[in-house]
Amino acid sequence: MNKLLTFLLLLSSLVHSNEISFYEIKDSDDQSSEISFLLDKVSFIKSYSLVDPSRIVIDVYQSDLKSDVEEKYNYPIKLVRASSKEDLTRIVIDLYEYVNWSKPTQEKTDEGILLKINVKKNKKLKNNIRDIVVAIDAGHGGKDPGAVSSNNVLEKDITLLIAKELQRTLRDTEGYQAVLIRNDDSTVSLNDRYQNARKFGADAFISIHADGFRLASVKGASVFIWSEESSSSVARNLSEKERKRIQAQIKNIKSYDFNEDAARDLYPNTYKKKVDQSKELGTKILDQLKRDPFTKIHKQNVEYADFRVLKSVDIPSVLVESGFITNPEDAKRLKTKAGRRMIARSIFLGIHNYFKDEPVSGTLLENYQNYLNYEIQKGDVLSEIAIRFGVTIDSINITNNLENKPIFPGQIIKIEI
Ligand SMILES: [Zn+2]
Repeated sequence: MNKLLTFLLLLSSLVHSNEISFYEIKDSDDQSSEISFLLDKVSFIKSYSLVDPSRIVIDVYQSDLKSDVEEKYNYPIKLVRASSKEDLTRIVIDLYEYVNWSKPTQEKTDEGILLKINVKKNKKLKNNIRDIVVAIDAGHGGKDPGAVSSNNVLEKDITLLIAKELQRTLRDTEGYQAVLIRNDDSTVSLNDRYQNARKFGADAFISIHADGFRLASVKGASVFIWSEESSSSVARNLSEKERKRIQAQIKNIKSYDFNEDAARDLYPNTYKKKVDQSKELGTKILDQLKRDPFTKIHKQNVEYADFRVLKSVDIPSVLVESGFITNPEDAKRLKTKAGRRMIARSIFLGIHNYFKDEPVSGTLLENYQNYLNYEIQKGDVLSEIAIRFGVTIDSINITNNLENKPIFPGQIIKIEI
């Protein structure tokens, strides 16, 4: 090997070095235990569960484990072990029984990036099972109001309200978990938005907008995805100044964050698959928006656009323009709870149809029985639940033998969709 190549390899190993070590196992409550590892950087991680014997596997790519790990723990954890081969670290959690588990999250702490995974005892399980995690990104916020309508409705407020409506449906539906990229009027950078989706271990990323246009007559909803190819064709038409401004923003990621741009070269197949999955997810959401009698459609097909917030290498990512806030009709619709609810419902049903068609192994939707379990919340009324899921009150009454009996908080009802 020539000297230059050796030097380059050494240099790249120094640049990419991402040390990983065992941190701790502790009980988070009497049912759940939390296993954690410490990393230098937010990493590309794949996790899955296996049967016979029951175990969970977490692969941490481009990482360097200093010494092998073998940690025994209390029931239901038999052993936590980890070893490294080349630049892949494999963590295996051996279990005595099947558990509910959560996808690993990567949290920034003073000590580094804490990779955490939770396992929860559940005697009733016939398999290890986890929720599908949906990251909901309410566009703009804080210092950035987004578009503003003629009567001073701010895009950032509309996007947050739709995000919270969608979160509510996902949160109270068995098999799903929702995380909000922002849950108040705070300023979040574009880089932090997709970086946070990775840190939460999201299975899908939905960015919600309601932008403006110079012509007030332009109206309707549309759905966008991102690809490197479309982005570079857009970039060719930009001015040099604009291109430099975007480049500067892209480079401005934190030292411990994951470099999504470099990852496209490292994992080309993962990236290709993600573009296809995003298109599928976007199409499913658009199909639902088309069924919504109140929402007009701006673009009939899923479009490519240079929205960098969607550039994760592996998380299917979609941007939903719920309408043009600069159009009086759209602004009026999005100002009402009913109008926003219809957008949230279309997104939810689109997500649900996507995961029904492309089930993630080890999730509830893998063996979907044509109904969802929804937990009644305080203040819920059947008519509202029916609208949120796009079903009739009658169908809920019949499926659940409710016979017009009152519903109560904590009650689980089946929703056939
Ligand atoms: Zn926007």
